[in-house]
Formats: sequence, structure tokens, C-alpha cells
Amino acid sequence: MKKMLVKLNEISESGSESEREFSSEDLNEIFSGDMPTRFSARASVKVRTVMYRAGLDVVVEAEGNLPLIAGCSSCLQDFDLDMPVSFRMTLQPAPAQVGELPEEMGLSEEEVRRVYYTGNSIDLGNLLREQILLSVPMFPRCAKDCKGLCSSCGCNLNLETCTCESRVVDPRFAVLKNLKA
Ligand SMILES: [Zn+2]
Ligand SMILES: [Zn+2]
Repeated sequence: MKKMLVKLNEISESGSESEREFSSEDLNEIFSGDMPTRFSARASVKVRTVMYRAGLDVVVEAEGNLPLIAGCSSCLQDFDLDMPVSFRMTLQPAPAQVGELPEEMGLSEEEVRRVYYTGNSIDLGNLLREQILLSVPMFPRCAKDCKGLCSSCGCNLNLETCTCESRVVDPRFAVLKNLKA
């Protein structure tokens, strides 16, 4: 993934707006990275970003609409998905010493989500990459009422009906059932 380094001394209090373009290759690299997903890109996308300073903190806002192809988690068919990505994030300078961090148990939810920057620049590319991965649904569905696949013959129940008996229990779940009994 290409870096988009923004130098801290180039971020003003009034902020500046820019457009960051991700080619479909960039997006596909994100979606097939450490955590492979059911997504790929239909086209490139421009993400509008605004960065400004608030004291020592740096606020990052981003907005875009990703043109994706998603694999339905129910019927396994590919479908087009336009996925909005929009976030606002405050980055704080990392504490000088890790030892000064309070015990993790005592942190509030907000503090746990705190994002730090270190050094003299912020890698906007990495931030956007993480947020894009967080934005995609875990179980994309081609339609709210997707009927999925017949668990017996595997036909796509959105497109055809089969003569199988009403749903046979998935053998993997049958094992679980036996364990419980
Ligand atoms: Zn489906
Ligand atoms: Zn069937």
C-alpha cells in the first residue's frame, strides 16, 4: 500500500482539503491484504479528506463512496455494492513513555479508541486503509431477503426452487447438536 505521508508542519489550524485517489489496484490490495475479504473494486475512487490541527491534536475527516463488488455471504453470488466511507478521527501525540500509560483496565471506552501519531508526519494512506477495512460489512448480502443456497442440493434459491425436503440440517451443525445432547 502506498504511503500518503502528510508532514505535521504542513497541517494548519484552518485545515486543508484534498482528494486522495485510490486506484482499483490499491483497493484490491487493501481487500486482499492481511485479512482477505469478499470485496473487490469496480473502479478507482477519490476520497475527500480534510486535516486540521487542534492544539497538539490532528483531526482527520474523510468521505468517499467506494464502488465495490461484494460476494453475498448467503448465496455466494457477486453483486455491486456502493459503500460509503465517512469518518472523523482525532489523533493525539503519542505519550513520551509507554510506561506512563494508565492501566488498560482503567481506560474508558473512548480512551481505548484513542489514536496516536508518532514522529513528524501522519500516514494518511494507512489511516484510510484501516478505516476502509472497518467500514465493509462482515456479512454482505445481495438483498435483504436473499434466500441463500439450498443446504441440500446447493441451488440458488433466489433463482430456482428445488424439490429437496425442507432444509436438511447442515452436518457441521448436526455435530454440535449431538455434542450438546
Ligand atoms: Zn445473496
Ligand atoms: Zn435443494
